[in-house]
Amino acid sequence: MYYSDSHVHTFFSPDSKTHPREHIEQALRLGMTSLCFTDHMDFDYPPQYQISFDLDPKAYFPFIENLRREYEGKLQIRTGVEIGLENSCRQRIIRYIQSSPWDFVIGSIHLADRLDPYFADYFAGRTAREAYLSYFETMLSCLETFDPVFDVLGHMDYIFRCGDRSVTDAWHEWPDLMDAILHILLDKGIGLEINTGGIKSGLPFQHPHDHLLARYRELGGELITLGSDAHSPDHLGDYFVETGERLKSLGFCYYAVFSKRKPSFYPL
Ligand SMILES: [Zn+2]
Ligand SMILES: [Zn+2]
Repeated sequence: MYYSDSHVHTFFSPDSKTHPREHIEQALRLGMTSLCFTDHMDFDYPPQYQISFDLDPKAYFPFIENLRREYEGKLQIRTGVEIGLENSCRQRIIRYIQSSPWDFVIGSIHLADRLDPYFADYFAGRTAREAYLSYFETMLSCLETFDPVFDVLGHMDYIFRCGDRSVTDAWHEWPDLMDAILHILLDKGIGLEINTGGIKSGLPFQHPHDHLLARYRELGGELITLGSDAHSPDHLGDYFVETGERLKSLGFCYYAVFSKRKPSFYPL
């Protein structure tokens, strides 16, 4: 049995060309028992990037439902979303989440200062450290404002995939800010996603960094999910075995898989 993947993109996201069936077949080859699709929804994505991360539940749900029926008894298939958190879109985000029967909702920070750190303009005109810090300040502000309408915080230190990578350890740089973020997650009952996409991008750690995970555990945190952030089937379940070992060494015993917004727990 292989760990279930709870962060997977398909051609319902503009940055993936993968048919959901390709992921399903790969999940079966790997020996997964369940898989959750989490395509992108980002309201008001800045027009200068000339791409739109809109996910239409009216098209998405029936499509995944057909596959769910087809693979019944072989693989549990879940319908989730990765939604970009931004205070300026808060009401629309809440309505969007509440209007569909999602299995799982990942809340991710994809924009700060109305810019996407994936692109160079995010880092222009300021030091790398200031740019990285701004991402986490935006995260704190969103977490303070939002009710727990999403299940986990996605790829917490994703920003370190971007820019010149001169900073990669947020716990070392800004321990008080990181503590504030982790405390809000715990207080609001929001879990923390373990996202192995960082390793794929060349970082020597998953998101979040071991130091943040150790601190989260120290504060009593234990609600974690596992996601590869695969945009193509060859990355499905990437680095899950070694990440599972690392999580165990940090004191985690199990990970959660969501269905109808409720977690079930499985041993690591
Ligand atoms: Zn993301
Ligand atoms: Zn993603």
